[in-house]
Amino acid sequence: MQNLVDKAKHKHSLLKSEIVEILKDDSINDYLFKSADEIRKEFSGDEVHLRALIEFSNICRCDCKYCGIRRDNQKVERYRLEKDEILKLADFASSSGYKTIVLQSGEDMFFTADYLAEIITEIKKLDVALTLSIGERSYEEYKVLKEAGADRFLLRIETTDENLYKKMHPGMSLENRKRCLYDLKNLGYETGTGSLVGLPEQTIESLAEDILFYKELNADMIGIGPLIVHPETPLKDKKNGDLILAIKVLALTRLLLPDINIPATTAMETLHPQGRIMALKAGANVIMPNVTFEKCRKNYEIYPDKVSVDYSKLETDLKQIGRTISKKHGFRGNSDCPLT
Ligand code: SAM
Repeated sequence: MQNLVDKAKHKHSLLKSEIVEILKDDSINDYLFKSADEIRKEFSGDEVHLRALIEFSNICRCDCKYCGIRRDNQKVERYRLEKDEILKLADFASSSGYKTIVLQSGEDMFFTADYLAEIITEIKKLDVALTLSIGERSYEEYKVLKEAGADRFLLRIETTDENLYKKMHPGMSLENRKRCLYDLKNLGYETGTGSLVGLPEQTIESLAEDILFYKELNADMIGIGPLIVHPETPLKDKKNGDLILAIKVLALTRLLLPDINIPATTAMETLHPQGRIMALKAGANVIMPNVTFEKCRKNYEIYPDKVSVDYSKLETDLKQIGRTISKKHGFRGNSDCPLT
């Protein structure tokens, strides 16, 4: 099994059957995590990039079976920030030293591409990189947003298993999800995707396919999140995802795509107090602290008990594992500007 991990480490490539073997064998975990950590250090260094997350609307037209802000959840108090409020948060984030601002929302079509373009143009005056995470749009809309200055886009594939995708996302299709991701890549966005680990009926084989899809897309960022069951969703009686399995997917992704950005996701820390640190020691190099107004945060409850980042604790924790907070924009390959 060590030979397989070494192959991934040196060739950055594995067959599906080899990924499955590694995912199924927990005796290799320490070696896998250590190898991914070494590759992270070699390709991205010891800096951790912080991305300031602004959750600007929890209104969503989608009805994803696992998500707490799904359209049919009547128990959420819905909100939508005004342009001025978004700009105020962006200004605060930039003056606090953040070099990337992430605008995330449900699929709220009130925010047309033209309206978002106005917001992006203002935020880009702040010397920050700008990431969008607003769901599925047309090629033309993505183009308007890119031309307004957006640098990156996050859109998880969630799962590459077509049947499971259909079951989890009523009215949506895996085909359109992929179309969006290839449109984003073709438009020159740094493109982020990723999976939910622990969806009901998800197989190890399909997780291996997910990792191969990241490689095929040549994704620039990958966010892996364990599923956390939300009580107001159709998945309320299911089990949470397995944190260790999620970290294994992360570590394998680092070995196969050595220079990309990989966050230690909030869902990992929510499942285990050391989840974020475990991820940072197994290939992750990004953290996304939430800077949204306190009054909104409780309503952007995609899953329960979402933790937040305690900045001073974070600095101490990072120091303890030999890592520092980056002052760069943190494009792929630890670069300060996008690679063309
Ligand atoms: N609407 C945008 C989209 O679809 O990309 C961005 C917002 S969406 C809420 C962000 C991510 O939250 C999704 O990609 C999904 O993986 C994650 N998410 C939603 N519900 C979750 C849950 N119950 N547990 C863990 N992650 C969840």
